[in-house]
Amino acid sequence: MTVTSLRDGYVDMPIRRLRQPGNIVFGDKLPSQVALVDGALRLSVNAFAIDDGDDITLIDTGASNAWHPTMGHLPEALREAKIAIDRVRTIAFTHTHLDHIHGLILADGRDGFPQLTRLLVPRLELGMFRAEARLERFHSRAQPFDAGQRVSAHIETIAAAGHEVGHTCFRVMSENETLLIWGDIVHVPSLQFDRPEITWEFDADQEQARTSRLQILGLAASNGCYVAGAHLDSPGVGRVSRTETAFRFEPL
Ligand SMILES: [Zn+2]
Repeated sequence: MTVTSLRDGYVDMPIRRLRQPGNIVFGDKLPSQVALVDGALRLSVNAFAIDDGDDITLIDTGASNAWHPTMGHLPEALREAKIAIDRVRTIAFTHTHLDHIHGLILADGRDGFPQLTRLLVPRLELGMFRAEARLERFHSRAQPFDAGQRVSAHIETIAAAGHEVGHTCFRVMSENETLLIWGDIVHVPSLQFDRPEITWEFDADQEQARTSRLQILGLAASNGCYVAGAHLDSPGVGRVSRTETAFRFEPL
């Protein structure tokens, strides 16, 4: 099995998106460890292709031209990785935010994946997905899945709600190795491994997002598995270890 990290681009976000417990912004007391680019938080936007030898399953699709113009490079990333789009038969979403779903349709309006046969959307976000007018021709093709469900011989889903109501991680298993493709468990890697209590303005439920992050970080650290994050610095793959008080990311 081969997993490829595909960089759709990046998005710059103001530091006020970071939230301390109680939904409090940092103001001018931002921890010095936070990495900034021109005063902003730069989030890589990554999707992951899982090739099991037969078909390719794509986890998330980037933003296409639906959000900031710094994203939408998934087609180039696929070309660079020599992944034929016709081999992508299954797409599964970690959740239905803009930077994860809009790559279904290219900027010019054509389908991003002409041979797509399965489009898996978290059941609790089916309504949100079907509210995206730009993706209208995919609304009826969406197949809901539940957390805890196996979506293929090698991929099972793990509930990690909070960032969004149906936010899901995908556990990919190959012989003795496991990779946890965890979506938006971490938005700001320079801060949230060390301070996992810090949440993100766009977390639909801040408390639940915090709980899920702690749970998934703990799981990754205990299992020693690889993790892959939608907003970890590209390529966004590595391992998680425990520190005395929190966690640390060890990029691959
Ligand atoms: Zn995201």
